[in-house]
Amino acid sequence: MKKIALVTGASSGIGKETAKLLVEKGFTVYGAARRVEKMAELKDVGVKLIAMDVTDDASMVKGVTEILQTEERIDILVNNAGYGSYGALEDVPISEARYQFEVNIFGLARLTQLVLPTMRKQHSGKIINVSSIGGIIGEPHGAWYHATKFAVEGLSDSLRMELKEFGIDVVVIQPGAILTEWNSIARENLVKVSGNTDYKILADKHIKMLAYADKRGSQPVVVARTIVKAATAKRPKTRYATGGGAKIILFMRKILSDKMFDRMMLSMMK
Ligand code: NDP
Repeated sequence: MKKIALVTGASSGIGKETAKLLVEKGFTVYGAARRVEKMAELKDVGVKLIAMDVTDDASMVKGVTEILQTEERIDILVNNAGYGSYGALEDVPISEARYQFEVNIFGLARLTQLVLPTMRKQHSGKIINVSSIGGIIGEPHGAWYHATKFAVEGLSDSLRMELKEFGIDVVVIQPGAILTEWNSIARENLVKVSGNTDYKILADKHIKMLAYADKRGSQPVVVARTIVKAATAKRPKTRYATGGGAKIILFMRKILSDKMFDRMMLSMMK
């Protein structure tokens, strides 16, 4: 029997590569995003497209209902949709901070709610949450983004224990710097929000660092391969750090004190 997967954020970057690889591995794949036109190449390789905004409850209900009516099961949910709302905490309007949480955490949680009754009935399934190394470390001007990714980590740890008795795995993916649209969106937000405020001096340095990282990261397929590994593993690990210096940065975070790690991060913003 073919396994059924839903991948959010499939119109770009990590989600797009993941949808393609899962099809290659024999899954029936549904790719979801707002920009359906950006998923045309996925349709060509057999991915089924769903228009979905993870901040719009009705569109999530509609998408999942369509999958369940057609397939009568769901095996893998890859909660990948997300973006970086960058800017100094003081400069980011609370409405934008709320929106950041809507996309990066409430969308993920709502979709999880929608697939769980079916996964529990099957007594199988995997919830794969794309967090970030930013779910373990912080950086200046990233307070809201990191708050959402720390939330993904905590939510996933709780959910994993809740779902153990139902035979459902919860997996966290922690990418490092990956060459996708993410970086330019985060940079544009930072320029717009704090490029001209009292935070400008450090913000300019951070923008330069992000631009540098945008040339040096890993290709999104590296993360996609890790997601597929987790999706196909009989006993997946709870966390996978992958691509773009993820392992070394998490190692440094582990061995350095908070203040030493702060110094290291700030020294990278010259
Ligand atoms: P991209 O910007 O390339 O892709 C983001 C995807 O999320 C797009 O397909 C976009 O689709 C979707 N998305 C954004 N907002 C919404 C929304 N409201 N509703 C539905 N879909 C939405 O970035 P990545 O591929 O890099 O990002 C994927 C995940 O990986 C994110 O969660 C990100 O935080 C995480 N990550 C990325 C890293 C990186 O360096 N690139 C590092 C660590 C983690 P559309 O706009 O069409 O709706």
